[in-house]
Amino acid sequence: MTQRLTPYVPGEQRHGGTVIKLNTNENPFPPSPNVIDAIRAVDSDQLRRYPDPESIALRTALAQKQQLNLDQVFVGNGSDEVLALAFMAFFTDRSALQFPELSYSFYPVYCDLLNIEMCAIPMLDNFAINLQAFDNNKGGIIFPNPNAPTSLAITKDSINTLLQRVPDTLVLVDEAYVDFGAQSVVSLIDQYPNLIVTQTFSKARSLAGLRIGVAYANEELIDALQRVKNSFNSYPIDAVAQAAGLASVNDESYFQDALEKVMSTRDATSKALIERGFKVLDSKANFIFVSPPDEDAQKLFDYLNGRDVLVRYWPNGALSKWLRISIGSQSDMQVLLAAIDSLENL
Ligand code: PMP
Repeated sequence: MTQRLTPYVPGEQRHGGTVIKLNTNENPFPPSPNVIDAIRAVDSDQLRRYPDPESIALRTALAQKQQLNLDQVFVGNGSDEVLALAFMAFFTDRSALQFPELSYSFYPVYCDLLNIEMCAIPMLDNFAINLQAFDNNKGGIIFPNPNAPTSLAITKDSINTLLQRVPDTLVLVDEAYVDFGAQSVVSLIDQYPNLIVTQTFSKARSLAGLRIGVAYANEELIDALQRVKNSFNSYPIDAVAQAAGLASVNDESYFQDALEKVMSTRDATSKALIERGFKVLDSKANFIFVSPPDEDAQKLFDYLNGRDVLVRYWPNGALSKWLRISIGSQSDMQVLLAAIDSLENL
């Protein structure tokens, strides 16, 4: 059975040297200093013992921040794990799962692993998600907002309209990048028992190395996730991650400052690339999706790679003229622009 699986391939993690790493949407800024203090304060008893299997302190802080009850919050080892558990809980015994044709490439991998039929919804012109095409009579709906790798966001109003139209279908909105300027739909959870929203500490909170993902939904859906989780791994969030995650949630002002910096660097980089003749989609994420003036994304990818500037490229299919570039520090982006400027015949 494992031979037929085509696993997800994450972006390259090249270590050492002076690599400018703009290929996995990591945050260029460190996490809040309170996070580091919380990690240092973990004592040997906390390591000797098993962690709280229910991550109550962390979930309570998240619930308060979102004005939800504890029972409406679930945490897992990165949102990839939360998504995998949600696929197991909600999509395995139904007909085809609907998702945009261009979206997070882990969705088809989970479908493959769990034998879930897939229904890929073609994109509209300019890579927008075609919300009208989602059907109330299939096995569920999932899409990222903002979408990855396109970076485009859809409004809370249009997701609200979708939710009204598909009351019998579970809708999972993957908000991995929502904090960088898109509208969250977490506040719609009390209104829609078929809505589940996932988020992550990996991007906006600069904690990709810690692995914390979150799901928000009504109590019944969260209970289903807890059951699947407890049939698989009782302790997905270790003691260090619980303490550090809590410190991150409690430092809102640091979080907002870091977001502002990433967003302003993103907008400046987009503008600089548009001035150089690139197509750049209107990003609400911590990455931009760009096509060079001569549309030869492969050539630019190879050139940047040779100069230790790593970006993400999918050579086959509809994305072959495009690159996904994560937003690094201002100086990272200056190195990127200088490298682009040094390429003749773009
Ligand atoms: N959803 C989307 C759309 C993503 O791009 C990613 C990051 N690869 C994830 C979920 C998973 O993030 P993590 O497991 O780090 O929380």
